Amino acid sequence: MRISKLFGKTLRDDPHEAELASHKLMLRAGFIHQVSAGIYSYMPLAWRSLRKIEQVIREEMDAAGAQELRMTALQPRELWQQSGRDDDYGQGMFRLADRRDRDLVLAPTHEELLTVMVKANVNSYRDLPLTLYQMQTKFRDEPRPRGGLLRGREFDMKDAYSFDIDDEGLDASYDSMEKAYKNIFARCGLDAIMVEADSGTIGGRDSQEFILLADSGEDTIIICDGCGYAANAEKAVFAKPTTDAEERRPIEQVHTPGVRTIEELAHFLEAPVSKTLKAVFYVADGEVVVVTIRGDLEVNEIKLSNVLGSPADIRLASPSEVRDAGLIAGSASPIGLSGVRVVADDSVTLGANFVAGANRESYHLRNANYGRDFESDTLTDIALAQEGYACAKCGAAFRSARGIEVGHIFKLGAKYSNALGAAFTDQDGAQRPIIMGCYGIGVGRLLAAAVEQNHDDDGMTLPPSIAPYHALLTALNVRKADVAEAAGSLYQEMQAAGIEVLYDDRDESAGVKFNDADLLGLPVRVVVSPRNLRNGEVEIKARTGGEARKVPQGEAAAYVREMLEI
Ligand code: ATP
Ligand code: MG
Repeated sequence: MRISKLFGKTLRDDPHEAELASHKLMLRAGFIHQVSAGIYSYMPLAWRSLRKIEQVIREEMDAAGAQELRMTALQPRELWQQSGRDDDYGQGMFRLADRRDRDLVLAPTHEELLTVMVKANVNSYRDLPLTLYQMQTKFRDEPRPRGGLLRGREFDMKDAYSFDIDDEGLDASYDSMEKAYKNIFARCGLDAIMVEADSGTIGGRDSQEFILLADSGEDTIIICDGCGYAANAEKAVFAKPTTDAEERRPIEQVHTPGVRTIEELAHFLEAPVSKTLKAVFYVADGEVVVVTIRGDLEVNEIKLSNVLGSPADIRLASPSEVRDAGLIAGSASPIGLSGVRVVADDSVTLGANFVAGANRESYHLRNANYGRDFESDTLTDIALAQEGYACAKCGAAFRSARGIEVGHIFKLGAKYSNALGAAFTDQDGAQRPIIMGCYGIGVGRLLAAAVEQNHDDDGMTLPPSIAPYHALLTALNVRKADVAEAAGSLYQEMQAAGIEVLYDDRDESAGVKFNDADLLGLPVRVVVSPRNLRNGEVEIKARTGGEARKVPQGEAAAYVREMLEI
């Protein structure tokens, strides 16, 4: 491709609407065009990269035995009502009506539609196992679209679904997808780590995410360097420190005027925060819930919403909702409460003689003990893992890092086959639900995350497998006939050698050309200049590091191939 003919132009300055490096660079390099918040068109350069990413994914999915198909984005809303996810997605799903007033949705994901299609086409255990996938556009009305293709409202996903006769089959399908994912990320030149994850609205048993570590990421990842455990903070478990074993003392009430927070309480009563219990008020699916946890720990809202529903829609209660439920903010605890659902983190059982609210304005209790003085409707782990906490497996201290989720794999089990009646006849003639898994990769997010991980101050540094072209051929002083001729024939030679070349044939200054070369960041740059031509040479340089080399014109194409390892 000749740059003089390429659609799209580069921008010298950072666009003001972009904050993240990948977003700025993709706008500046003419990769994407914003249509509306979280809605982008792909321009030719991005489209080439995205097609390369899709091709890598396709090859690995096919090699794992998955079959490609293509489903529709437009779907009857009824299907989502049947699975119960019309409610789960809430405002996150785009809904519309057709001319006959039938309700439709623009699908945010495809479990429902495919389950119904498999139900119509699979009858017996002989038809299974099966893994199906597609590259397709998804629609999600994200509350906070961000970072260009990183979090869009219309975006492309590769989504795959496996169908097995039992859990063992699912484990095998899942393992083969896990391997395929590792190959995909490695071939795209990305350093992705696999972490334990929450299943969110998709549901199911186990799930893992593939994360690119990047400071700009929205996910917090908890990593144990001791044993290799890694989990999204939404899911991470840890060893909660136990406070000293001591005999239970009789409960007593203390006057605590003006004390509102846990820190004030600990200070006032000269107790460590780990010897206090805090109460936090939430509204879960419309109902006020009291959540109690040891004062030194924080509530993990994802774990909490999973405990309260599948998952429940939760938010902090407002002061008036707290008052209306008869709760005393600043002095609340589960002790003596009735008529309100109580969820307790299991840390409240790790220790004795806690300081807790007395459910009376300006009073607290000393020596509160779980089991003796209070109980809960649910006692489980709802605590947030943080940096420095101890690993539950090996005891080493956690490190935390930010990351971008590029892929997510789930063991769904029978959730959708039960809801939508997808069953098969087993070897004994009995009807059983099909056991499912699902596997997603955000194609556009992968490209944006790759730029996030591969750039420097001057521009992108994408690897050859996903850069829009392998090499940039820059002709300096193209008005000189010998330069135009040498560059023109090198352009042909490189293409003939299987190199994807972008040819900068513009009549522009060296400064402009080199700036654009850095910005686009194609892996190899070949420069044809009048000076080097005198010696029959061209200059070749890798975008990332390394010295520029002078190479005889006739050897240039072979030299570039070697550098690219293609
Ligand atoms: P997130 O937590 O980032 O909102 P998710 O967990 O809802 O994502 P999944 O349902 O697991 O996303 O979707 C599978 C993959 O699709 C994700 O791993 C991600 O790569 C991609 N993806 C999800 N939402 C978006 C989006 N709004 N824009 C671009 N890619 C997305
Ligand atoms: Mg996910």
